[in-house]
Amino acid sequence: MSGRIVASVARTALDQARQKMIETGQWDAAQSMGRRWPIGCVALEITQRCNLDCGACYLSEHSEAVRDLPLDEVYRRIDMIRDTYGSDVDVQVTGGDPTLRKQDELVAIVRRLREVGMRPALFTNGIRATRDLLVSLVEAGLVDVAFHVDLTQGRRGYQTEHDLNELRRTYIERARGLPLSVFFNTTVFDGNFDQVPHVVAFFVQYSDVVRLASFQPLAQTGRGTLRPRSPAINTASVTRQIEKGAGTTLSFDTAHAGHAQCNRYAMSLIVNGHAYDVLDNKGFYNLLVARTAGYRFDRQSRKRAVATFLRCLAANPEVIAKGAGWFASKLWRMKGDLVASRGRISKLSFFVHNFMDACNLDPERIKACTFMAATQDGPVSMCLHNAQRDRYILRPLKQIGSDGEEWWDPVTGRSARNVEDFSSHGSLSPAGLRRKKKALEVDNTAD
Ligand code: SF4
Repeated sequence: MSGRIVASVARTALDQARQKMIETGQWDAAQSMGRRWPIGCVALEITQRCNLDCGACYLSEHSEAVRDLPLDEVYRRIDMIRDTYGSDVDVQVTGGDPTLRKQDELVAIVRRLREVGMRPALFTNGIRATRDLLVSLVEAGLVDVAFHVDLTQGRRGYQTEHDLNELRRTYIERARGLPLSVFFNTTVFDGNFDQVPHVVAFFVQYSDVVRLASFQPLAQTGRGTLRPRSPAINTASVTRQIEKGAGTTLSFDTAHAGHAQCNRYAMSLIVNGHAYDVLDNKGFYNLLVARTAGYRFDRQSRKRAVATFLRCLAANPEVIAKGAGWFASKLWRMKGDLVASRGRISKLSFFVHNFMDACNLDPERIKACTFMAATQDGPVSMCLHNAQRDRYILRPLKQIGSDGEEWWDPVTGRSARNVEDFSSHGSLSPAGLRRKKKALEVDNTAD
């Protein structure tokens, strides 16, 4: 596909996203979807296998029986993402746990994403994400790494979120110094809601490496076994817990990314261990979004990101005029910490992503979805995909083989000329699959 065609796909996708925002009542001056990007991110699930068995898992009971997608199909899905949204897209390389895939294949997938201009992110529980693997992936073009660590995972030897900070620290040190944005994902449920402020305080402490902390209230979907979260755990209460941990109020209502019931975002600057709210001037933020919509900020290099920002300011002097007073008062409030930190500042963002329960999908939110899964049928809202996962992962795939069209069966890994050649999958037994999974877990907890 030529660069001109990809650019035109991206423009069309942006227009379509804007239209969806308008139709669902989410379009305003602070909305990034349809203005800055056509989609928040796309999940590329390269395996359905995992080496943990989280109580909040979104996979299906049948996931462990499914073979890894052939590499050609993964590449076809990458092309499909580009044909839908253009190439300026954040793609989560995920699973299951993507590190269970053969390492050379994982590296090849990341390289392919980067070659077509996308920003690949590794979404992992971290068990097999060694320093060596991260280095290889960075060389192939990885941009972000997101570690999922929390009590829902039932990791042996960790009773509290505070205990898990030791593991988070290990993962941070594996990524330290690499040109990667480091994210952490935390599922919030009855068992850790009270501990969210401690987790946030930990991220503030390590904000020299951690760029984004994402919190997801537990959703009833997939094979997860945890009981539904208490109604007291919701987007509003989670944002309050984040503020408690950050030690400051944070403006979660300024920036809009897709549907307000799905996503909340806040940004802070950390100076000398203290967090300062960045998005507390809505008028200025709206102006900034309008003027910077066409700029891309490099997440791997702070120097390049600052240079882009300065270029943007030079081209838009009214932004300087409008923001100078706000910026000066912010610096004035920070002055003591700036002196103590010798001018060192880091940026830490917070995200609350409110997935829907499988039995309670809101069509309007699905329509305004910012987070898609790449399926054989095209991109599908992640909430919808999680609710109907078997429909997507068990169905044979049509492929073009050396002898023409053929079908690939995800349960047996066999190929055949006719789809009827595959026996029904009715014999799949969730209980049997669970046993297979436990065996896997033992193999992989040794790291
Ligand atoms: S995945 Fe679900 S919660 Fe997330 S943006 Fe899409 S519809 Fe909203």
